[in-house]
Amino acid sequence: MTDIFPLDLHFQGNPHGIAAYLLRGPAGNVLIEVGPGSTLPYLQAGLAAHGLAPADIAAVLVTHIHLDHAGSAGWWARQGVPIHVHHLGAPHLVDPERLLTSARRIYLDQMDTLWGEFLASPADRVFAHHDGDVIEAAGLRLIAHDTPGHARHHLVYQLGDVAFVGDLAGVRRPESRYLRLPTPPPEFDLPAWLASVARMRALNFQAIYLTHFGPLTGPAVAAHWDQVSSLLPQYAGLVQTGLAASQDRDTLVAHLAAWEAERLIALGVPHEQLPIYDALGPNFMAVDGLLRYWQKQARPPA
Ligand SMILES: [Zn+2]
Repeated sequence: MTDIFPLDLHFQGNPHGIAAYLLRGPAGNVLIEVGPGSTLPYLQAGLAAHGLAPADIAAVLVTHIHLDHAGSAGWWARQGVPIHVHHLGAPHLVDPERLLTSARRIYLDQMDTLWGEFLASPADRVFAHHDGDVIEAAGLRLIAHDTPGHARHHLVYQLGDVAFVGDLAGVRRPESRYLRLPTPPPEFDLPAWLASVARMRALNFQAIYLTHFGPLTGPAVAAHWDQVSSLLPQYAGLVQTGLAASQDRDTLVAHLAAWEAERLIALGVPHEQLPIYDALGPNFMAVDGLLRYWQKQARPPA
């Protein structure tokens, strides 16, 4: 049994927003997810609490290249740490300009406050992976599973009978059963996400570790995958119905926000926690991703 420790990155000063996972292997330490540049001091403090410095990290694995998961990957790469990533994400770590331009389009003047600095990774520190690749580091053996849906460049990492599931499992903080599924542009893909969930569910993991936030174990694993599968079509349907009624983007965002607020209240989540969810999965971003998805479906195949 490998010791697995969640490190809380205190995103936006709140607990249980973004996790990095420290794996203490037989021959060293591995990090899964490193969070954004803005939370790097918390990550280093989390490591220090385990008596570790950045030089003690043998490898970093990121589930995908979104800023809340891989924003500080370049900093780690520049310390000499190998970064493991989906093959479609790898080029963007080396040359982040396009990734940052599209993030700036979403987050506007909030960009720096939310995410901090994103450094380019030296190409020789970036290791690109395909479905089924085995990553050996610190005496550990992890399997990469190609799991598109939230993004095409998404991997789930399996370690024995547990898995690190990134955004495939959505945002579910340990305080509550409320689940939010971030459906960002440009790659949100409903059938791909459902298929990825079905594949991961069939592997019957004993535990899954969510980046947002924490582990689910035992029967809660299958129950969680079922909840993701039933909620995804509801997100897609909300925007599909709105489009059929010729609703504009602002109206759709307002509808989604009202629906999320209703679900939050129904599950007893205190109102002051709403900004935590909105920072991790803004409603306008979800609507933009869903709009883009439905527009792609409407286009005749080339
Ligand atoms: Zn993401």
